[in-house]
Amino acid sequence: MIYNFSAGPGVLPEPVLREVQAEFLSYKQGVSIVEMSHRSDAFATIVEQLEARLRRLMQIPDDYAVLFLQGGATLQFSMVPMNLRETRRFAYLDSGVWSKKAIADAKHFGDVVVVGSSAATKYRELPAWPQTISDVDYLHVTLNNTIEGTRYTELPDTDVPLVADVSSNILAEAIDVKRYGLLYAGAQKNIGPAGLTLVIIRRELIVDRQLPSYLAYSQHVDSLLNTPSTFSLYVAERVLAWVEDEGGVEAMERRNVEKSSLFYDALDASPLFHAVVSGTERSLTNIPFTTGDAGTDEAFQRFAEAHGLIELGGHRSVGGLRASLYNAMPLEGVKRLIEVMHEFEQEGQDVSYKNV
Ligand code: PMP
Repeated sequence: MIYNFSAGPGVLPEPVLREVQAEFLSYKQGVSIVEMSHRSDAFATIVEQLEARLRRLMQIPDDYAVLFLQGGATLQFSMVPMNLRETRRFAYLDSGVWSKKAIADAKHFGDVVVVGSSAATKYRELPAWPQTISDVDYLHVTLNNTIEGTRYTELPDTDVPLVADVSSNILAEAIDVKRYGLLYAGAQKNIGPAGLTLVIIRRELIVDRQLPSYLAYSQHVDSLLNTPSTFSLYVAERVLAWVEDEGGVEAMERRNVEKSSLFYDALDASPLFHAVVSGTERSLTNIPFTTGDAGTDEAFQRFAEAHGLIELGGHRSVGGLRASLYNAMPLEGVKRLIEVMHEFEQEGQDVSYKNV
């Protein structure tokens, strides 16, 4: 049994992968899903169902549009400022490597005001929300910092539209959509394969801005502008059906709290490993941890791999170890990880692992 702790593309529900495999050669009309026109009735039904499921799962109000785009969350680092610019002043919270990249891209389109930063502490904690905020087009936040393992659980009271990157926590915990002007997420963690990006946007923020067609949100509302990543949309629809069958976002959050608490408790009690983030800011989905020694961290990674636990390396920008516990990671995977950590504490730190 292999357990995949990758931060993304991440683990998907096994029943969905089996279903996809079974239908791959012939989807409904005797052709493969990857051979079907995105304008066919069968495919249009998939897109409609995907949107309907997402709207139910996240309780997305009617005055929000749901867009299915490509280009990853990274393209949204540019599309957001391009489309939402009125005064061309944008506020950002600098809470991690991904928000830093979002800030860098936004600078191409206006003035970026960094209203809080935890760069000085290597993003081990979250910058506080600004006390007051005005005269900006929006305030951008990375709600869950995939690399650093921190997450916001409270939102400020503000009239400025909130824009959130929810790539690593969408559908993993409740997100109150109506508190935001715009939410975006790459699909490749909790939703499906890479190649699909979701944007949920309050319709009144969609303004025609004379942009190249693909880059304008207005071009993507309520219809497909061009050929989408059809396979990713199809798998995403099946994953969301699974989430609904399993009890929805509430059930996912309950499980994610259970899994992450178990893991944090094990880290807090361990004589060798410790969590990088402390207190209430700990992410439910991405948990960086370390022994404090790069060689021992690497030795553990190899030890874990030899025991079927893969992708436990920290992001290349920070090193250390990281376990991502997305919706499709079963509790058994976390229990197994803890068991293997105990084995390593007791017997695994021998020279043969350290020197490889
Ligand atoms: N934002 C966050 C929070 C992420 O975790 C990631 C990467 N997984 C990105 C943005 C970049 O996403 P993409 O690779 O889809 O562009």
